[in-house]
Amino acid sequence: MKTSIEPVLEIDLTAVKHNYNFLKSFGSGVQIACAVKDDAYGIGALDVVRTLKDNCSVFFVAYAKEGELIRSFVPNADIYILQGIGENELSQIIKNHLIPVLSTLEDVQWWTSVTDESYALMIETGLNRLGLRTNEINELTISQRKKASLVMSHLACADDTAHPLNKIQLERFQSLKHLFPNAKFSLSASEGFLLGSSYLQDMVRIGALLYGINRSDAFKTNIRPVMSIKAAVLQTAVLPKGEYVSYGATFQAPKDMHLAVISLGYGDGLFRSLGEGKGGFYWHQKRLPILGRICMDSTMCDMAEATDLKPGDFIDVLNSFYTADEMAKDVGTIGYEIISRFGKGQRFQKKIKEA
Ligand SMILES: *Cc1c(COP(=O)(O)O)cnc(C)c1O
Repeated sequence: MKTSIEPVLEIDLTAVKHNYNFLKSFGSGVQIACAVKDDAYGIGALDVVRTLKDNCSVFFVAYAKEGELIRSFVPNADIYILQGIGENELSQIIKNHLIPVLSTLEDVQWWTSVTDESYALMIETGLNRLGLRTNEINELTISQRKKASLVMSHLACADDTAHPLNKIQLERFQSLKHLFPNAKFSLSASEGFLLGSSYLQDMVRIGALLYGINRSDAFKTNIRPVMSIKAAVLQTAVLPKGEYVSYGATFQAPKDMHLAVISLGYGDGLFRSLGEGKGGFYWHQKRLPILGRICMDSTMCDMAEATDLKPGDFIDVLNSFYTADEMAKDVGTIGYEIISRFGKGQRFQKKIKEA
């Protein structure tokens, strides 16, 4: 009898701590803030915050309610709200001493009229997402500018170190700094570490590298994966030549084969686009290619490389060998989206390795 059939999601908090400490020593003298929005990209915001509470004093979330959730774990930390603020969030922001990141003239004028608390300002330098445009900065009064305790921008192409937009954004950012006499400055997220020290400014805001998502070779040996996933074999079967597999009968066995049915599907966050030959699972580092379409709760794979596989065994879906970044290449997305989706899976047995 199988002991358990539910898929397993493992979070290695020792890796979170290791990655944070590595980046802190790499960017020596620079404040390393942690982005824990979207439940820390699926890793678990509360777990990340309690792991780093003695090391890190600055956190970024998207919404006030996410900030309220972590506040009791880090009573003295600076918690920034990236999406800014609506009138309904004002009391929650004030009560929890959260700091809104403001991106419009109207929001800065409103905030400075309702409270004396400081704020962070996002300025637009090239991403064309959120941020005050240069001509709008000139409309801020001196006292409004003095209340900005942090001035930020966000790079569009930091993953491509040779991209000309990086330098353009840095120059635009530098040229505006003198307007904010009381502010600290922050331009880069994880991939800014690859661009050189001038991009690090006073503070770097890290998410991806903290959670083991790393597209570059530079940190390959230093950044450890945080999320791993295993799924149970529910059944193994002979697949005679000519038989089809899964919905739509998109795969036909070219020869006699063996298949295994795995307890993981798109309902758990596995991208359905990995079916039909693109993705695979692993058994002792041997690849088990996915056969046919991925179903909601299960997926079929070819066990030619794993003839000893039997029901109740757990195969690897994500591990240090086939990482979220590797899976992302097979899907055509980025590792961020892989872990954020799996992190929302409700049906995993969650195992936490404490730091
Ligand atoms: C999410 C986010 C970050 C963190 O980005 P990573 O690439 O995950 O390090 C930093 N700054 C802003 C404004 C963000 O939205």
